[in-house]
Amino acid sequence: MSLSTTSNSNKIALFSTQPYDKTFFNKYNMDFGFELDFFETQLNSQTVILIENASIVCVFVNDIVNETVIKQLAEKGVKIIALRCAGFNNVDLEAAKKYNLKVCRVPAYSPQAVAEHAMAMILTLNRKTHKAYNRVREQNFSLNGLLGFDLFGKTIGIIGTGNIGKAFAKIALGFGCKVLAYDIVTNAEMEKDGVKFVSLEEIFKSSDIVSLHCPLNDQTKHVINKKSIALMKDSVMIINTSRGGLIETASVIEGLKEGKIGYLGIDVYEQEEKLFFRDLSDDIIQDDAIQRLMSFPNVLVTAHQAFFTNEALTQIALVTFNNIKSLLAQNDIENKAALLA
Ligand code: NAD
Repeated sequence: MSLSTTSNSNKIALFSTQPYDKTFFNKYNMDFGFELDFFETQLNSQTVILIENASIVCVFVNDIVNETVIKQLAEKGVKIIALRCAGFNNVDLEAAKKYNLKVCRVPAYSPQAVAEHAMAMILTLNRKTHKAYNRVREQNFSLNGLLGFDLFGKTIGIIGTGNIGKAFAKIALGFGCKVLAYDIVTNAEMEKDGVKFVSLEEIFKSSDIVSLHCPLNDQTKHVINKKSIALMKDSVMIINTSRGGLIETASVIEGLKEGKIGYLGIDVYEQEEKLFFRDLSDDIIQDDAIQRLMSFPNVLVTAHQAFFTNEALTQIALVTFNNIKSLLAQNDIENKAALLA
């Protein structure tokens, strides 16, 4: 790969970094020896200027990597955009090709981390362990208001049966749930395990719990909307650990107000970019929709933490470094799912 003489092929500028990113990337860099420049700020058209002499940028879920930014990156001599996440809806891949930038991602760092978090959200919403925890600490040992339901025998509908959806299906089957799935490709191995592939409409009509595990794209944007909610069972539980844009927030708020939606668990939010991964405890939140969502007693919001396990952060650092190393050496990656452009 020909790297511009103005950019250093050994230097990576990492954006949107948190203290734990520094810990894991520094630890595993011992075996790779890259020069690492950590920036807490998001990558966008104003922050590109921070990049000094680096031919690689490493970005996360809320960095802005549109055509304007990609053009600026190319002008700075950047050759590789390495996503340290699986989803890539925030990157304009066409623009990357146009400006001759390679784009790679970490396709499956720990599908179990996200699948287990989805189940944790289901169990918390159902058995209200978060409320019980606070209650007994105040010496309130009453059970009123904590009534849940057996998961055993309930129908869980999974949208998207890739790495995470598949891992989540196994967990749901382990609980004795009936598992329905919708994907643009069916999976024979999952069918053998007892998962039934059905239409999207059937998922909405028959599921007690709908869990989203598909990527955000033109086909899946706002897959949870006024129409799909109307098809769902009364008191349905909706879980989103995938991307915020899969849910039309206003329709979900309406569904919660009407009692149609019985439970909502979201680890992602359409406007999360201005909120998540920061401590805003002293700020006035300007986003009324998230405030409304958080005001419901049957809504659980976590701030994009489903991926956040020791195993996942280790894999993220190792796979990102390996992706970059092989792209620099041969302009290609062995792990085909990692190469996006
Ligand atoms: P994956 O690529 O392995 O699987 C995605 C699946 O979705 C594939 O089976 C694909 O066929 C299917 N799909 C594509 N278009 C579809 C459509 N229109 N309708 C139904 N299914 C469709 O991805 P994955 O590793 O399982 O991750 C899934 C998503 O989870 C990612 O795109 C990402 O947005 C999200 N994610 C979130 C976190 C988190 O921390 N909350 C962490 C990792 C990934």
